[in-house]
Amino acid sequence: MKNIHLLVAAALAVVLSPAAVSAAAQRLPNIVVIFTDDQGYADVGVFGAKGFTTPNLDRMAAEGIRFTDFHVSSAVCSASRAALLTGCYHGRVGIHGALGPKATHGLNPDEMTIAELVKQKGYATGMAGKWHLGRPPEFLPVRQGFDEYFGLPYSNDMWPYHPEAKKGTYPPLPLIEGDTVIDPEITPEKQRSLTTWYTERAVKFIARNKERPFFFYLAHSMPHVPLHVSDKFKGKSEQGLYGDVIMEIDWSVGEVLKALKQHGIDEHTLVIFTSDNGPWLSYGNHAGSAAPLREGKGTSWEGGTRVPFIARWPGRIPAGKVQDETAMTIDLLPTLAHLTGAPLPARKIDGLNVWPLLAAEAGAKNPHEAYFTWFADNQLQAVRSGEWKLLLPHTYRTLEGRPGGRDGIPAKYASLEVKQPELYRVTRDRNEAENVAAQNPEVVRRLLAFAENARAELGDSLTKRPGSGVRAAGKASGAP
Ligand code: MG
Repeated sequence: MKNIHLLVAAALAVVLSPAAVSAAAQRLPNIVVIFTDDQGYADVGVFGAKGFTTPNLDRMAAEGIRFTDFHVSSAVCSASRAALLTGCYHGRVGIHGALGPKATHGLNPDEMTIAELVKQKGYATGMAGKWHLGRPPEFLPVRQGFDEYFGLPYSNDMWPYHPEAKKGTYPPLPLIEGDTVIDPEITPEKQRSLTTWYTERAVKFIARNKERPFFFYLAHSMPHVPLHVSDKFKGKSEQGLYGDVIMEIDWSVGEVLKALKQHGIDEHTLVIFTSDNGPWLSYGNHAGSAAPLREGKGTSWEGGTRVPFIARWPGRIPAGKVQDETAMTIDLLPTLAHLTGAPLPARKIDGLNVWPLLAAEAGAKNPHEAYFTWFADNQLQAVRSGEWKLLLPHTYRTLEGRPGGRDGIPAKYASLEVKQPELYRVTRDRNEAENVAAQNPEVVRRLLAFAENARAELGDSLTKRPGSGVRAAGKASGAP
């Protein structure tokens, strides 16, 4: 036995010097998370985009892995972001829906974000883009583990130019650096530069921190309406403005990947790309596509929660893989804890390490027995377990097959009801066309039992359950 060990050690010594072995072992991975807003499942070339191209994202997928069944916890901005950054279902940390500019609550600073997680290991941390987890200064990224921040505190349509009934009810949209307003009013002209500005911040951050482990969160405001694009991409796609906007985001991905290569840290960096929820279909030609999935943003149908997901890390993630196992944004924080050796938060979280899925390990399976989707004011709307998905009774918005609006003016949604639990075998029936609840009563019972456990833990406004594991959002000082 001893001889075998000596032989292995000798063989390793030939390949790598001891210094190289120890440097490789000690080097913590850089992490870049690129999170877009309302980009649909089909709005990336390799996921089926039509009318525009995404060469950089396609190359990223060819050099890494893409997930065909990746989900967000809720098909709306603030809730989705809370889940991504804390590893918890958003309801556990008290964040629901989309926070308005005057909201006096935000992500509780007592919760641990991914930035705070990796800070435990000495990471440099930065963010550019849309925050949307609380506008009062005490909730901004620089109070939640990020060393630096540049971007919009909430959605780019929460501004005085809003086309709907809310027109004129929103205050001017500010641009923030750190916790200071550096421009009190973002105009339509300035929105055209958002994607470029965020990208420049990411590239400069990478250059500045190339010698130490870092985490950068690039949360694009686009392609959330109102759509704006710089002259670089204006008129470039056949689809129109939405396609132009996605092509500019794709350019941004290319700039980030180029910077990593230029600084020689490509092989030390995990880059993740995904979206916060599905397409806002009522905006018609200014919305993306979730084809072939059913419905979009604001629903718990697949078009709302299933999003494109690509991860790339040369040498650690094999190239050109496609992962069909399910995963969710809540799994990101615990996976990064695994990769960095950072201790998990002391408070309970919901996500689990899915590194074996990212690394495309043979036979790797999703570690959750079920996933859940809450929407609106904590309505538990769907349960996913393995190949099955159960839609619980609730009301949802739909265009009922009508076309969406044109050029930034939305069409009106109708409301439809799921009256009885509906069961879909989503691994085969991706567009949830055939309700097979009647034929599978045992499966329905099993998923209802999962739902009942989830209600007890995290509550459900539809059945008026409070949830014993819910923690409070942060309240701004002086707020009632
Ligand atoms: Mg969104």
